[in-house]
Amino acid sequence: MTPHFTPLLHVVFLLGLGWLGAVVGSFANVCAYRLPFGKSVIWPASHCPRCLTAISGRDNLPIFGWLLLRAECRRCGLPIPSRYVVMEMVTGCLFALVHVSIVAERGWKSPIDMIYTARLLLGASLVTFLIIATVMDYDWMIITDSVTVPGMISGLLLGTLLPGSRPVPMSADSMLDGFLVGFGGIVTGFAVVVIVRYVGGIIAGREAMGLGDATLLGVIGAHLGWKATIITFFMAPFFGLTLEFWKVVRRVRDLITGRQSAQNIKEMPFGPYLSMAAIVTLLTWPLLWKFWAAELFEAIRVVFLGLE
Ligand SMILES: [Zn+2]
Repeated sequence: MTPHFTPLLHVVFLLGLGWLGAVVGSFANVCAYRLPFGKSVIWPASHCPRCLTAISGRDNLPIFGWLLLRAECRRCGLPIPSRYVVMEMVTGCLFALVHVSIVAERGWKSPIDMIYTARLLLGASLVTFLIIATVMDYDWMIITDSVTVPGMISGLLLGTLLPGSRPVPMSADSMLDGFLVGFGGIVTGFAVVVIVRYVGGIIAGREAMGLGDATLLGVIGAHLGWKATIITFFMAPFFGLTLEFWKVVRRVRDLITGRQSAQNIKEMPFGPYLSMAAIVTLLTWPLLWKFWAAELFEAIRVVFLGLE
């Protein structure tokens, strides 16, 4: 591949991945909607919940199908919630951002090589499972094993078969190393939540976190390794705080303008925050590591092991 074609190649990859992400996002919506009830995600095809008309191929296109239908069922006019199309767009953007993050780390090299492919597969896999878990947790306050177990297997397999697939410094040189990094990530994910659950249970007298959070952090650990898992876990509450802050701002605004408070923002489970933090870690891990996490782990090592 001559360097001449490389910029064009990146544009093609960016658009292609955006579209692929939208398709995956559409499928993720179906998974999040059906898996909690043990329903098949393949059969039957998507249909209108009121008149049961199957959604035809053209109308089922991500984003464009929704626009084409003007957000209504073609037969009975039942409104199609905009969140479906929002999730498709978000997933599309995240797939494209995975590409950007890889380019940011290795420069404008041609994306057709082994390391790029490995990184892309791992990033896309993590994004996919996080999107399904987030939508499911948001809707039903549950994250089923039918999402997290395949998620852990996927992260572990990719990290083992393609040891270079994880972002530096968690990337490995051998398959055994790759396996251990992912396995350590799963164990760390479970351990952190179990400890917090236990300690939180003593302090707050109620369950601080669900087991769905443990398995979700296991999925994150399998993909990103144990260090990134710890960082993700402690970053997640900040996303929660941001939403709490937004609620306060709205309350104050309503008081000042004398407006009747709009309906309360839905109470959020922890899963979506974990997912948001994991996405930030996935996309910015080399930067996080360089400017912050490396020193943090060094400090922990010195404090706990007394090594200089
Ligand atoms: Zn209908």
